Amino acid sequence: MLVDLADDEVVKRLTSRRQCRNCSKIYNLTFKPPKVAGVCDDCGGELYQRKDDTESVIRDRLDTYHQQTEPVLSHYSRQGKLKRVAGELGRDLVYQEILKLIA
Ligand SMILES: [Zn+2]
Repeated sequence: MLVDLADDEVVKRLTSRRQCRNCSKIYNLTFKPPKVAGVCDDCGGELYQRKDDTESVIRDRLDTYHQQTEPVLSHYSRQGKLKRVAGELGRDLVYQEILKLIA
């Protein structure tokens, strides 16, 4: 099963990710922002961007992912065994689609 998401959307989501230095809680400036910018809702800790959440690092990781994963996807796709879920649907709908596919 593949949860498919365009590279640009992956970059957008990951570069928006922030983590609390104190309790490690994860935020997303687009989907799940803190109540006060830069401050953890739970503990008041400072939010920061992880070094591996910058665009250039994410693009490098995506290149590696595509190189290593495309042959596997092609293999299962040719056999009619690859099931795809559109990642753009958002978390709740993606979850429902996955449940339908494995039912
Ligand atoms: Zn915190």
